[in-house]
Amino acid sequence: MTVINETIQKWNNRRIAIIGGGPGGLILALILQKYGISAVIYERELLDANRQRGGSLDIHEDSGQLALKEAGLFGQFEAIARYEGEDFRLFDKHGRIFMDETADEAQKGDRPEIDRGELCELLLDALEPDRIRYGYKLLEAVPVADGKHELHFENGEREIADLVVGADGAFSRVRPLLTDAAPEYSGLSMVELSVDTAAHPDQAAFNKRGKVFALHDEKAILAQLNGNGSIKVYASFKAEREWLDAGDIPFDQPVEAKRKLLALFGDWDESLRNYIAYADELLLPRRIYMLPIGLRWNRKSGVTLIGDAAHLMSPFAGEGVNLAMRDALELALAIVRNDGIDAAIAAYEPKMYAYSSESAEQSDDNLKLMFGDDAAARLKAEFDKYHAMVEQAEQ
Ligand SMILES: Cc1cc2nc3c(=O)[nH]c(=O)nc-3n(C[C@H](O)[C@H](O)[C@H](O)COP(=O)(O)OP(=O)(O)OC[C@H]3O[C@@H](n4cnc5c(N)ncnc54)[C@H](O)[C@@H]3O)c2cc1C
Repeated sequence: MTVINETIQKWNNRRIAIIGGGPGGLILALILQKYGISAVIYERELLDANRQRGGSLDIHEDSGQLALKEAGLFGQFEAIARYEGEDFRLFDKHGRIFMDETADEAQKGDRPEIDRGELCELLLDALEPDRIRYGYKLLEAVPVADGKHELHFENGEREIADLVVGADGAFSRVRPLLTDAAPEYSGLSMVELSVDTAAHPDQAAFNKRGKVFALHDEKAILAQLNGNGSIKVYASFKAEREWLDAGDIPFDQPVEAKRKLLALFGDWDESLRNYIAYADELLLPRRIYMLPIGLRWNRKSGVTLIGDAAHLMSPFAGEGVNLAMRDALELALAIVRNDGIDAAIAAYEPKMYAYSSESAEQSDDNLKLMFGDDAAARLKAEFDKYHAMVEQAEQ
């Protein structure tokens, strides 16, 4: 205990700057706060914008949930997590059903759902308010003497940090300090839609309480019931990088945009097309990017990355947020257990490379499978294999 106390004292004479207040940055600051180590999050938005950023996330027992336990927030998470959100239905474009799994809430599965906004609110409520500064968009981090960095923010402020942690997502401004690698377009584009279940009870009944995947012809309709009663829908397809900009779908004319999108899914069953037909009038274009699988860099003094900044991948293993939270946990513990900044980074990075590269490979395999031939049948076969493996392990 005394050794840990001495370590904590050493860290408190240093300035830790976390760039980005997404799930990764927030959990890192919280776990450090729990151990009495100060860190400051610099977030570009003027206030918490996590509610506006995407839908429900499944938080995994062996990663995201471990981080919440270490932060002392698992009880509160359990109370609001949606265990019934693990329901899963799998279709092809004809509406033929391949899987129809209903979660047993009493059994408490290992991947309950929570809306991103709710998760981040839970984290923010536990964070001391002066640990996060809004309106601080990092422009660049410039190396100065002794492994320190000077942070240049768009608002004109400058800060010196002993340790800079890039938790600033896909297009990180910290990453260029460590590697030239940049996110590449995965070949997949999506249109994000939202269906109000109160206005469309028939679609709510079809969707049930969790996820629906419909896969065919290198396209997908991916739907997930959110905690606020809306269904978040991603109409997804392979497309050239510029396709969303080319004007084929006029995003500023929602009625026409929906008509064009429906035409893209023209030969799909009505039960699936209704996810588009019933959608609200806000349609959001999304391109899916990824960093090279297995990305590594030469370790540098005073700087590291967590979450999407370190290993952006397509969302098809459902791991992105879980990895960001696990990275935060591993880095926080490396800090608590190591006196030196370099020693902490050296303890964290190799571990992170090992588990995140496995997930990146899994995400990429899933992308290829879900947008390849016989996608629904092949995905079901993968689930069957996985369930058989789990059953065998439990015997
Ligand atoms: C369509 C879609 C669906 C997804 N579905 C899932 C899913 O089901 N399950 C799952 O686990 N993951 C999913 N993900 C991935 C998941 O959202 C991310 O992996 C996760 O949010 C990464 O967390 P993070 O904290 O690393 O980064 P982010 O959540 O991206 O947070 C980064 C933060 O940094 C801030 N920031 C950015 N630049 C700067 C700057 N220059 N200066 C200061 N602040 C900055 C941003 O405002 C933001 O608050 C999905 C992603 C997409 C695109």
